[in-house]
Amino acid sequence: MNCPLCGKPASLKSVVRPATTAAGVGAGGYVAASGASTGAAIGSLFGPLGTVAGGLLGILVGAAAGGAAGHAVGKYIDEGVIRTYHCDFCDYSWRAA
Ligand SMILES: [Zn+2]
Repeated sequence: MNCPLCGKPASLKSVVRPATTAAGVGAGGYVAASGASTGAAIGSLFGPLGTVAGGLLGILVGAAAGGAAGHAVGKYIDEGVIRTYHCDFCDYSWRAA
């Protein structure tokens, strides 16, 4: 890959993966929290013990679903969307799909 401005060889930045991994973890945590409240609401139909059991079940299901989705999204962004190149000669940066 060469710089489109000056034609010199450019380098590929590798700063994307930690950010998208964190985004995936955050998304998983959000889904887990909403799953817990939904599970607790359903469990409360069966009394106090049902509220606790429903909340725990909601956390497990939400964390599994959210974690998988966050990982898939982060992996997709890492590999397909954000691939940034940088030219050390003229300091130009650009994205390549
Ligand atoms: Zn350049």
